[in-house]
Amino acid sequence: MSRRKTRPQDSARRSAAPAAFATPTACPCGLPADYTDCCGRLHRGDAAATTAEQLMRSRYSAFVVGDTAYLLSSWHPDTRPGTLDLDPRTRWLGLEILGTEDGGPFHAEGTVAFRARYREGGREHVLDERSRFSRVDGLWVYVDGRFAD
Ligand SMILES: [Zn+2]
Repeated sequence: MSRRKTRPQDSARRSAAPAAFATPTACPCGLPADYTDCCGRLHRGDAAATTAEQLMRSRYSAFVVGDTAYLLSSWHPDTRPGTLDLDPRTRWLGLEILGTEDGGPFHAEGTVAFRARYREGGREHVLDERSRFSRVDGLWVYVDGRFAD
């Protein structure tokens, strides 16, 4: 997921209370596990993704919990942005893995097609993307993504 947040044009929409990222109990990636035992392990650096799909899921969860450091460190150095600005008011609603190609424990590259739904500015949006992953020093990283037509 490469989507960089833009600041909303309509500042009047801003709520009085500052929005904040919260640590969820159930893992946002959709697997039936607690965040702490699922993507949280990857975010904390206690485990590394063994497949491209696992990295994809952990990156989605990083968007949900606002872990920009993880998003940047799991980005290929050739395509990684200098900074990443996440809007805590974006409500991520769910991730659906549509298909994978390679990206397994014995592959060096892989692609993951996914659909992510989010709410922003009072409207629901759907992000359909096909992401490419490769390994750097043995670890899966996100290379880039193409939006589905
Ligand atoms: Zn997870």
